[in-house]
Amino acid sequence: MNALAPAPVAPQTHAPADPLAEQILDTLVHRIGKDAQAARPHDWLAATILTVRNDIIERWMASTKAAHAAGAKRVYYLSLEFLIGRLLRDAIANLGRTDEITRALASLGVDLAEIEEIEPDAALGNGGLGRLAACFMESMATLELPAYGYGIRYVNGMFRQRIDDGWQVELPETWLAHGNPWEFERRESAYLVGFGGEVETTDAGRAHWKPAEAVQAIAVDTPAVGWRGKRVNTLRLWTARALDPIRLDAFNAGDHERALQGQVRAETLVRVLYPADSTPAGQELRLRQEYFFSSASIQDIVRRHVQYFGDVRTLPDKAAIQLNDTHPAVSVAELMRLLIDHHELDFDEAWEITKGTFGYTNHTLLPEALESWPLPLFERMLPRHMQLIYAINARVLREARRSGADDRAVSTISLIDEGGERRVRMANLAFAGSHSVNGVAALHTDLMKQTVFADLHRLYPERINNKTNGITPRRWLQQCNPGLCGILSDVIGPGFLDDAEKLSELNAHAGDAALQEHVAGVKRANKEALSSFLRDRMKLRLDPDALFDVQIKRIHEYKRQLLNLVETVALYDQIRSHPERDWSPRVKIFAGKAASSYHNAKLIIKLANDIARRVNTDPAVGELLKVVFIPNYNVSLAEKIIPAADLSEQISTAGMEASGTGNMKFALNGALTIGTLDGANIEIKDRVGDENIVIFGLTAEEVAAKRANGYVPRAMIEGSRELAQAVKAIATGVFSPDDPHRYRDLMNGLYDHDWFMVAADFDAYHSAQREVDRRWGDQPGWRASAIRNIANVGWFSSDRTIAEYARDIWGVM
Ligand SMILES: *Cc1c(COP(=O)(O)O)cnc(C)c1O
Repeated sequence: MNALAPAPVAPQTHAPADPLAEQILDTLVHRIGKDAQAARPHDWLAATILTVRNDIIERWMASTKAAHAAGAKRVYYLSLEFLIGRLLRDAIANLGRTDEITRALASLGVDLAEIEEIEPDAALGNGGLGRLAACFMESMATLELPAYGYGIRYVNGMFRQRIDDGWQVELPETWLAHGNPWEFERRESAYLVGFGGEVETTDAGRAHWKPAEAVQAIAVDTPAVGWRGKRVNTLRLWTARALDPIRLDAFNAGDHERALQGQVRAETLVRVLYPADSTPAGQELRLRQEYFFSSASIQDIVRRHVQYFGDVRTLPDKAAIQLNDTHPAVSVAELMRLLIDHHELDFDEAWEITKGTFGYTNHTLLPEALESWPLPLFERMLPRHMQLIYAINARVLREARRSGADDRAVSTISLIDEGGERRVRMANLAFAGSHSVNGVAALHTDLMKQTVFADLHRLYPERINNKTNGITPRRWLQQCNPGLCGILSDVIGPGFLDDAEKLSELNAHAGDAALQEHVAGVKRANKEALSSFLRDRMKLRLDPDALFDVQIKRIHEYKRQLLNLVETVALYDQIRSHPERDWSPRVKIFAGKAASSYHNAKLIIKLANDIARRVNTDPAVGELLKVVFIPNYNVSLAEKIIPAADLSEQISTAGMEASGTGNMKFALNGALTIGTLDGANIEIKDRVGDENIVIFGLTAEEVAAKRANGYVPRAMIEGSRELAQAVKAIATGVFSPDDPHRYRDLMNGLYDHDWFMVAADFDAYHSAQREVDRRWGDQPGWRASAIRNIANVGWFSSDRTIAEYARDIWGVM
């Protein structure tokens, strides 16, 4: 025997009982380089992931081969954000191996749940838009579509939020600190991405772009496992490398900084995720990121197509590219460039191919959030693309004129905003370059047609369509709420796991007292688990019998955490004035991050914490009201909070939340919604029924009318005793005695303009909350409502959403 062979590693007590345990142990030793005694939790995590990965890789290769052999059309989902969260639990649950792996690890003295908890949460996104992309990846694999996600491998994704003395502090999230066993770097899949320089004309009369600078985009692949492991797709994220990582001449001359400059500049491209919720980053770097990932992705797609099918002209038959919002919209110009400059097609043919290939999903109508770039910047960075955009624009405007558009319509259709500083409108580019433009909920799609895209819609009336968002029921029911899943399986069988709409079979049992008892028991257990998590983490004691009233999402004025907080203050006031009334105990739970440059959002976080400090220590309210702000909202935290929620706060100003997906997650886990007629709330209401949801407030139409007709918030505030008192208390420092003027400007904003209609909706919201109290008082009624929510929101599965995209937009089903 080789003297250098490793000593036997497993101690007697850890003698592996099954082959899987043997494999994990072998991986630990030979891949991680630790034995069972020396291994730390992170080592076990890595060994487990690497072992599971073997299974995934085989399916992954089989999936790729099958698509190739069938000559299948592929779907490409381009998104600057993928909020994927942790992957281990998802992957093994989808492979159906959870029990087996739990047992194997237990035989090694390792608790699966414990190592799952230390997996970093991959937060390569801001919020809903990024989470949607992650749910879509899972559903595309589940529906066995050959699909690729394309994005950026940010070294630091979303920041980690710490709360210091009530204030948000942003810290870098180092999710790659322990390496990332899920990913594969594909050095062979590398592309040059150019910037700047100039465009020359060749002797043959063709344009030739000579960039001043080029970086290398390198593919890093992560497998996306579908339900029951039927298919494994690829999430391809780009990282950047300088062509010349080090300039030796400079280095040897002693100028070390200059020698590494190129590498630093390249790495900067993939370092940060831009905050989506602040006004559009005017930063040059943001445009560089958008072009970097668009160009690498489009080059990769065209290369694959030509390699498999030989002729670039068949691209629309074999590739569907979906643009998740306008961040990848420059892809339209990039594909045109490749088709015309590299594949030598004429403009008309290239344009038909481009439109046939792209689809665009719009996520916002807020004018300040519609991306546009100063023309001089765009022209300097992407001179050839600028020429192509002019050419596209000329063509679109010609079509507009021909269809009878007047000057006003032509100016809104134009890809160039000529009002003031000239800018390139990315939404118009994406719209013009796509055969499908979709909204993400019915109301949002209607508003698209009526507002920002009204003239484009008149010009291309077939283009706009609706695809109401969805969530994957694997992560957002099966994995986060196994207790509930067990009960549902017992009652209606496991069919709902494959088809979430089968949950409707539960309707027949909503009145069944035993089922109500069981569902309530699971909810109670989930609330206990959350309480114990918060006790450890925040030294906080919560009563699991209280109503858990939850608002977790990005902090934004349009989402109206402020409405909730002002109402909380009013409730606090009333409990103090009338302690003798029959109040039902409530816990108000908040979580969410504010964009670091968004002053009011950060102040709202501080206000939540200031209110919590005062309310939670007031003996006059005792257990009747508690307020909690949980730091560092992310996917993993959402998975803990949502199964424990009784009430889901979806209270955006009507017309401003395109869809929302948090609303769907809560309903699927048996929370009742208190919400406005906004986004997908409307469709949730239509499905669960008016008696099982609490709707209040102005409609989108009423909001628009109020704004148009001169809304006077002061009159609203002075007309409502509760509101006036609460606003006054906050404004005068009742919750901030250390700095009495802290919230003066925030409250003055409500008096002065109240753009988000907090005052206008306050009384309706306050009454709706009392309606919630009444319903909560009738526990059998509440429980039946919870079951009817679960039963009727299966339609919001992202499997349904993806099936609609596949059929109506991509032509792959
Ligand atoms: C679902 C989800 C969101 C989106 O929530 P909304 O309430 O729709 O804004 C944002 N962040 C995370 C982590 C999520 O899981």
